[in-house]
Amino acid sequence: MNIIVNLAYECWIQVARLFNLKRRKALFVALLGRPNAGKGTIASKLSERHGIPHISTGNLLRRKVSEDAVFAAEWGPHMKAGKLVPDWVVFRVLSEELSKPIYDIGGVLDGFPRNVTQAKMLRRMLAWRGNQIDVAIYIDVDRQDLMERSSGRRTCSSCGRTYHITFNPSKVDGVCDAVIADGDSTGVCGGKTVQREDDRPEVVAVRFEEFDRTFAPLHRYYEDNNLLVSIRANNRMGIEQVLEAVVFAVEEVD
Ligand code: AMP
Repeated sequence: MNIIVNLAYECWIQVARLFNLKRRKALFVALLGRPNAGKGTIASKLSERHGIPHISTGNLLRRKVSEDAVFAAEWGPHMKAGKLVPDWVVFRVLSEELSKPIYDIGGVLDGFPRNVTQAKMLRRMLAWRGNQIDVAIYIDVDRQDLMERSSGRRTCSSCGRTYHITFNPSKVDGVCDAVIADGDSTGVCGGKTVQREDDRPEVVAVRFEEFDRTFAPLHRYYEDNNLLVSIRANNRMGIEQVLEAVVFAVEEVD
């Protein structure tokens, strides 16, 4: 199923690419924010709107865990506990991904960079292919709101799409209704939606600690480089409202 989803996604990106030939240069956007701030949802919507691929390091690492037993044994427990994997591990996975031609038109990075070392790595990786980060968008949501969100978040075990049991439920409880393109036809994913192990409250608390430990210098780094845009969001705002603010920030630099 993963292979079909990946193939469909690559086809979609190629089509989007054809429609993007007029674009002068690639567009790279980094989405920053605490776990469950909505980076994944915003990234996939932004990716659909701009026709540039969504790159989630969390999804890349989870895929690697499901495909590579040695990697899973070494880093799976880290991820389940809500701890960051070492920079070199995520760098290896991301640089392999970014070497693909689908990223010639750019990408929306979700979950990377998480610290200044990663931001510098990213800068070098992109420079290597003649690109750069155009804007880093910080989705700023209070801790309390995020705790409420994470307890209700459900993730499709097949395609990775996320839902919330109150704010953004799937049409049928427990079943993913993402529309997946497959060549000329489209179909509904139908995967099972589950609570990710790292969305349990005790694990979310560890993930918040990891964020707080590394985020302030990262924020300063992008601010000093005039690349940072901060967007305040909360649980009373609909995702579309946050998306509009993000789209506005992206269009300013595109
Ligand atoms: P996410 O889906 O972005 O919340 O990531 C899930 C887990 O993957 C994190 O808790 C980390 O263990 C790992 N991870 C994802 N991105 C990174 C990153 N940039 N640096 C280190 N670990 C990461």
